[in-house]
Amino acid sequence: SSGHDDPLLEGLNPQQLTAVQSRAQALLIVAGAGSGKTSVLTRRIARLIRDRELWPSQILAITFTNKAAGEMRERVEQLVGRDAAQGMWISTFHSACVRILRREAEQFGFTRGFTIYDSADSRALIKRLVKDMQADTLGFTVSAVAGKISKLKNELIDVEGYSRQINANDPTEVMFLELFRRYTAELHRANAFDFDDLIAQTVYLFRAFPQVAALYQRRFRHLLVDEYQDTNHAQYALIRELTRPVEPAHVPADTRIETDASGGIPAAALTVVGDSDQSIYAFRGADIRNIVEFERDFPGAEVILLEQNYRSTQTILDAANAVIANNFDRIAKNLFTAVGSGEKIVGFTGYSQHDEAQFVADEIGTLHEAGTPYNQIAVFYRTNAQTRALEEIFIRSAIPYRVLGGTKFYERAEIKDMMAYLIAVANPADGLAMRRILNTPKRGIGPATETALANHADELGGTMIDALRDAPALGLGPKVTAAIVDLAAILDAASESLDTGLVPDILVGILEKTKYLELLRGSRDPQDEARAENVEELVAVTREFQKNNPEGRLIDFLTEVALVAAADDLDDSSGTVSLMTLHTAKGLEYDAVFITGVEENLLPHQMSATEPGGPAEERRLFYVGITRARQRLHLSLAMTRTTFGDTQVAAPSRYLQEIPAELIDWRDAPGMGTRTTGGGQRALGGSGTPKFGYSTSLPPGKPKKEWANTVTAKVRDNGDLTLEVGDRIRHADFGDGSVTSVTQNGAKSIAEVQFEKAGRKRLLVKISPIEKL
Ligand code: ATP
Ligand code: MG
Repeated sequence: SSGHDDPLLEGLNPQQLTAVQSRAQALLIVAGAGSGKTSVLTRRIARLIRDRELWPSQILAITFTNKAAGEMRERVEQLVGRDAAQGMWISTFHSACVRILRREAEQFGFTRGFTIYDSADSRALIKRLVKDMQADTLGFTVSAVAGKISKLKNELIDVEGYSRQINANDPTEVMFLELFRRYTAELHRANAFDFDDLIAQTVYLFRAFPQVAALYQRRFRHLLVDEYQDTNHAQYALIRELTRPVEPAHVPADTRIETDASGGIPAAALTVVGDSDQSIYAFRGADIRNIVEFERDFPGAEVILLEQNYRSTQTILDAANAVIANNFDRIAKNLFTAVGSGEKIVGFTGYSQHDEAQFVADEIGTLHEAGTPYNQIAVFYRTNAQTRALEEIFIRSAIPYRVLGGTKFYERAEIKDMMAYLIAVANPADGLAMRRILNTPKRGIGPATETALANHADELGGTMIDALRDAPALGLGPKVTAAIVDLAAILDAASESLDTGLVPDILVGILEKTKYLELLRGSRDPQDEARAENVEELVAVTREFQKNNPEGRLIDFLTEVALVAAADDLDDSSGTVSLMTLHTAKGLEYDAVFITGVEENLLPHQMSATEPGGPAEERRLFYVGITRARQRLHLSLAMTRTTFGDTQVAAPSRYLQEIPAELIDWRDAPGMGTRTTGGGQRALGGSGTPKFGYSTSLPPGKPKKEWANTVTAKVRDNGDLTLEVGDRIRHADFGDGSVTSVTQNGAKSIAEVQFEKAGRKRLLVKISPIEKL
């Protein structure tokens, strides 16, 4: 410990202390997982503010997710007080750039109401362009085009730049150039930026308008960047732009400025923290070199290493260290912990993903009973498709959970419809949003009318809204004309509230006038009931937003929604188990962690085999997963896995061999025959890899049908079935048992049942496959 009385420095080890107090112009903190990088960054900000070295508004801190930004802000506020912390910018790269672009968009031909296209929007646009240009005949797919455009933007190569580097005789390259050109033009026409643009356009803005750059260079005197190993070239360039010395020529004459001895205005200070072993976003253009070359780019930089891990047990660290040691081309680190060795890692091999999911659910039940809160438990997987089996069992077992970044609330059709209305109100130039709402709900506007309107907009030299207002001039049928005029009136009414109105009021107004919700509620389609609930949820989201941001307007709401990153969720996580991909897990920590699907082709993912550097990146991903765990780690896999109805035999991941056998306690699947005692000889065999006792067929004794269909659990409804202590029941999977306790809570009633063979389980009464005996 530091021996200081200063609460801000309390408990820091000597290296951390140096890092918090350093006054270096450029500071790089490199260290392994859980060594306090994020904590040090946070305390550094707090110290700068408390010691009055800077105003909070002179600080720009960058985190990887909005959630991490929220946590860091909260922590700083705890350390220095809420009022003292007002005005700091703590956000993701994307959010910071949106804020800058909203202020400056008018400088280069956009308006501040611009739309942010998510990847689905980008793809919809690319799909249309590929079709228009018949680019598919040259082998272009939407994903390939989207991927390449994204890559170029992350490397700050624009249409002009690309046109200079291609072979003009290669029809494929020429075609791509044309797609890229049109895509860029369409975005501009729609007053829209895609995700990659947010960063790239901010860099272009700074480069094209040095006086604008000077504004931000002067404003931010200290930049701090977490997870620096995952910055891509565009993000790196942005940092470079913001940390240049300010050109006195670009500072307005009437502004008082502080100058250094030589009469110039010094560059902003920069602190970055990172761990090259946790670089997992190369596929998005992240470049480890940004960290490796830091000292070259920022001469005189101070470098601090942290070696003590405060998060995990020694067992978990040993496993992590052993795995990552197999990546060559890295600087070896010497991580240690004072926490002690802790429990062994639990390994489990199931017959199928359902078996595996049941294991996870059972273990969570045991952990919870032993006192681990649900929100201290996380389940990770490589691909989103793996959640289904887990969710089914969790629902049946009444384990409260939520999927981070997976459910894609905002990708549901009904939510997209309503968001399109809001976007059309804020940005009438957005043709994509306009097209979506023209005939939603159905009002008799077909493709021919749509084309007529689009042409009319061009004739008027305006946007779709101008064409809608002027519909009577088009000579369409009276019914269609009335419908169009009606739509224009709805949008116009809403846009009157754009700068003053409350967001929920705008949304509710649209819902009422379009009768959207009314139509869903009146429908006989059972799916529409769920859709109506989702729309109501969106109204609740806007209320929540307005509560948290009393001054927030529609544009602020749209910005927030557009930026909800993978690791973010709108409701808080108290009391639920978190499910997420390994990519989303970065920077987080939990008492107990489950990594599922530790199989070849899944982890490492089969796609990584063909990517240069792919296998090494997959290993880092596994390393990130392991190092999230504080006390308990579970690694599980299945012998067979059914994806999209196709059952494949799976092999244990090569990474399992890399973990010393004595660290893992292997457990068998229930009813899997030979059960061995001790350190998992059956599962591990001589080579240290779980061995499967068969080759291609499904496990004996279980009919395939049973494995294929557990989704029935979701639609099953036991109505008002009331259970009491002592009741005998039969469960489709667990057999017979007696009810030992019941928590009555309407549709959420939970029964605890002692099964004769399957042990004790908690069940959600309404939907479990049970009957009273
Ligand atoms: P990652 O690489 O996973 O992002 P990190 O290096 O950012 O990890 P932190 O999240 O800052 O690490 O810290 C890991 C855990 O260790 C946190 O729970 C933090 O509160 C705790 N911690 C950090 N430093 C100390 C310390 N000096 N004493 C006690 N606990 C500490
Ligand atoms: Mg961190």
